[in-house]
Amino acid sequence: MSLLPSVEGQWQGRVFRWRPLEGGWTWSLGLYDQVEVYTYEASGRPWTFIFDRVIYRRALNGTMLVKWRVPGQPRQRRRLSQDEALAVEARARRQVAAFVQALEAGQVTFRHAPPADMLPRLRAALAFDEAASRGDATRFHQVYRPIGILPPDQYLAVVVQITEGCSFNTCTFCTFYRGQAFRIKSPQQVEHHARAVRDFLGPGLPMRRGVFLGAANALVAPMPRLLAGLEAVRRVFPEPRFGDMFAFLDAFSGERKSPADYAALAARGLRRVYIGLESGHGPLLRFLRKPGEPEDALVAVQAMKAAGLSVGIIILLGAGGQRFAAGHVADTIALLNALPLDRDDILYFSELVVTPNMPYARDAAREGLQPLRPDEQRAQMQAIVAGLRVAAPQARPRISRYDIREFVY
Ligand code: SF4
Repeated sequence: MSLLPSVEGQWQGRVFRWRPLEGGWTWSLGLYDQVEVYTYEASGRPWTFIFDRVIYRRALNGTMLVKWRVPGQPRQRRRLSQDEALAVEARARRQVAAFVQALEAGQVTFRHAPPADMLPRLRAALAFDEAASRGDATRFHQVYRPIGILPPDQYLAVVVQITEGCSFNTCTFCTFYRGQAFRIKSPQQVEHHARAVRDFLGPGLPMRRGVFLGAANALVAPMPRLLAGLEAVRRVFPEPRFGDMFAFLDAFSGERKSPADYAALAARGLRRVYIGLESGHGPLLRFLRKPGEPEDALVAVQAMKAAGLSVGIIILLGAGGQRFAAGHVADTIALLNALPLDRDDILYFSELVVTPNMPYARDAAREGLQPLRPDEQRAQMQAIVAGLRVAAPQARPRISRYDIREFVY
């Protein structure tokens, strides 16, 4: 979201800055570790709050991700239920309401004249009350099937679900799409859904950039459907800010695509494909019940890169515990070194997060697997990175963490 000129002033003895954004606005009050930040979409839908050094990020389904730091400890986080999130929204609304009241009473000092749309935007946030917030979350569920996960650099994309669910749903460590049937939408269905998404995002749409083609595995769709689907998305989102499209391709036993296929998708706006590789170690993939072989990833990435696409490769840290660790590291390094990666690509390292309802938890217990501690998972990442053939710094893929607990859309 781009930043526009801000206005500054004083209220209740505290400095503040109100900054309009494309599609929204942000208001910060106070300084340093006492700062409070309130960011809303232009429609009044809450986006992010910071108070008491805690960050609250509202998801479109009405829940919230809360993050905070405790000195000497890793970042803490928790997901709030809708009711808990509503209480946070109400707290923010009370502060905005007090500010609006002071504005109307002429009790706010400005360094420069405030923009004319400041008060209407603040009032829109006040109108987004509990009933509006609940209604908004209900509408989200009418527009979208559950959105399991996005790559970290795509949290601000507009998600358009040209497919639903996962075509495999076998991987023991993944519950994102359990219970959802896999479905490829017709071009008409894609266009209808995309229009509903556009309506739903409303005036807040400019806060976003790019289009992520959902869901888990959109690129397994046959080419004629994919091309028509991308064209339908383009008709609904013609603005340059939504010109770039992104998608997952997770596992490779679906229809294989050639470099010419990927070039045709690139010509319609596809820019990067995110591949849930998890590991280059075949026995580990079979233990995880991940379809396909590591070599399939090599063929797919070669085809994508030949078409000018970039890739995001996701490696699962700690998968298979101690028993698979050596093979995981060695074979993943070998595979990554065989991939034609460059500076446009990203290597994501994602820590395995096991919940009791996962088949992985059952399999690991049955096999007596010894899990890797967080520090051992970090060491696994360092070992893989250290094993990468050194390319000139300007030619190296970006290396980043992928913490699924941070996901919010
Ligand atoms: S292919 Fe991907 S989305 Fe589907 S079950 Fe496996 S990890 Fe989950």
